[in-house]
Amino acid sequence: MKVWISFDMEGVAGIVDWEQCRPGSGVPYALGCALLQDEVNAAIEGALAGGATEIVLNDSHSTMANLDPRKIAGNAQYISGRHKPMYMMQGLDASFDAIFFVGYHGSISGPPSTLSHTYNPEVISGARVNGQYVGESGINALVAHHFGVPIALVTGDSVLHEETRPFAPDAVEVVTKESITRFSAKNLHPAVSCAAIRAGAELAMRRVGEGAVATPQISSPAALDLDFQTADMAEVATWARGAVRTSDREVRIEGENFLNIFESFVAVNYITRQAGGR
Ligand SMILES: [Zn+2]
Repeated sequence: MKVWISFDMEGVAGIVDWEQCRPGSGVPYALGCALLQDEVNAAIEGALAGGATEIVLNDSHSTMANLDPRKIAGNAQYISGRHKPMYMMQGLDASFDAIFFVGYHGSISGPPSTLSHTYNPEVISGARVNGQYVGESGINALVAHHFGVPIALVTGDSVLHEETRPFAPDAVEVVTKESITRFSAKNLHPAVSCAAIRAGAELAMRRVGEGAVATPQISSPAALDLDFQTADMAEVATWARGAVRTSDREVRIEGENFLNIFESFVAVNYITRQAGGR
């Protein structure tokens, strides 16, 4: 069985501050990377124990080169580096049997979730798929749906799980921490979090092997509505293919090809960084 893992950083147990997630911040970032590496390795080890034979990692955080490749468990392949056309979903295709979302976090628009954002927090203030508020997991589920691959494991805080469940009803959920605010949480001990992820990944693969994990259910045509911080940003967003202005600060991307919707969404992210003043 082939497993594709997209991992972010803010949902990892022990991480509560941007400094722990920001390349260049020195000691705090080094700690964040070590915590992340252990959780990713736990997911790999659990997947292998549950029957996975091939694992591909897609680094989905910031500059997307947050792991020490030498320390990756299970001889997993590692997609890393910036400016990937499919961003958090780079490398997924229909040949995979399962998707894991590791270290994911809640949306910018939802209840307090540690370091919550929906792609770019300086630009996007909310996102809806078919009218329902979503985070990164829900937007990324469009691509999972396109390729017909089930989301089998999700790890992060409990807000993440509430937001992801509609798209991954059969996924094994591992709660790594309870968010208190966007900048505080009650964290599991990292060793406990990793043990839970390892066990959850193994269970997830067994469930996939039994055919017990459905692919995301999203009705077609799908509409991805995006709320922007300013009207300027919404205007720039319309320069992406298929992005249509629906109000001063809202843009809709709609269609039956969910991969095209996601591609346009990635384009929106890249070009609106200019209007975001980055
Ligand atoms: Zn993120």
